[in-house]
Amino acid sequence: MENIKKLVTILVPAYNEQDVLNLLYDRLVKIMNEQSMYDFEVLLVNDGSKDDTLKIMQDLRKKDSRFCYLNLSRNYGKEIAMIAGLDYIKGDCVVIIDADLQDPPELIPQMLKYWEDGYDDVYAKRKSRKGETFMKKFTSKMYYKMLQSVTNIEIQKDTGDFRLLDRRCVEALKSIRESQRYTKGLFSFIGYNKKEILYDRDPRAAGQTKWNYGKLVNLSIDGLTSFTTAPLRWSALLGILISIAGFIYMLVIIFKTLFNGIDVPGYSSTMVVILFLGGIQLIFLGVIGEYLGRAFYETKGRPLYFIDRYNEEKETNKNLNK
Ligand code: UDP
Ligand code: MG
Repeated sequence: MENIKKLVTILVPAYNEQDVLNLLYDRLVKIMNEQSMYDFEVLLVNDGSKDDTLKIMQDLRKKDSRFCYLNLSRNYGKEIAMIAGLDYIKGDCVVIIDADLQDPPELIPQMLKYWEDGYDDVYAKRKSRKGETFMKKFTSKMYYKMLQSVTNIEIQKDTGDFRLLDRRCVEALKSIRESQRYTKGLFSFIGYNKKEILYDRDPRAAGQTKWNYGKLVNLSIDGLTSFTTAPLRWSALLGILISIAGFIYMLVIIFKTLFNGIDVPGYSSTMVVILFLGGIQLIFLGVIGEYLGRAFYETKGRPLYFIDRYNEEKETNKNLNK
């Protein structure tokens, strides 16, 4: 009797990627045909693109029925596009890959080998990042350092979402339904057997990056606030430090007044202290507000996304995303 082949899903979130999808198709098909010991499914997630991405996905499906697509009802961002995709995949494992070919699909066979060796999460770590500015590389490095120092789960550096996940990792990720998702952290959070492979990150094959500094700053704040309450503790610590300093200064003033009498000038120093403390208080009100805001979003418990269609089927949210 012939063994049933394992099904490998390749999950591709795509937002305005009309220029690269055909290139991606060629590269994926080549690899899928070489790996004949597996069955493949490619799930393209259209994250509310404004260009012809959806149409190209439909054409690809006509050409090759291994290609499936999921059309979200609007643009939700990559994090949500990924969980939507994970909810729909059928594979025994999944490889998450960017549409823009910055993650070379040629790494997939190697990932599959490690998967067969028993690893659950084979992630690709960037050796180099071609086509990215010095500032982007530098800020990302500093950010990871900071994030790592305040969380007790290990966050992988220079690693994106390009990775192979075993079915059980997929189920674990699916069970986490928080809406402010920071998937990079969730991969670490779920644990399991991890294996890293190194690769050179290519520049985008065509089209435009969807990230700008504003979005990256937002993602970094999400990363920080969804994994640690350390900033709340920083505020308490800073408060204690300032109180101690204030207390010492008070003693100084008392002794000065006792020995030298009341001294009237002091307007600027008073102003400086008031402004400084006022600033700090506002910052930490903001920090508290950030956590409160997250709690607010999570308590609403809204579905993470709505689906427009899955392949030829029109979808309505039935019992989707719980
Ligand atoms: N993406 C998405 N929804 C968005 C933004 C991006 O699904 O709102 C996809 C995009 O199509 C690509 C991947 O996420 O496949 C990574 O995006 P991009 O290449 O713009 O990011 P970068 O590689 O520059 O970090
Ligand atoms: Mg990219």
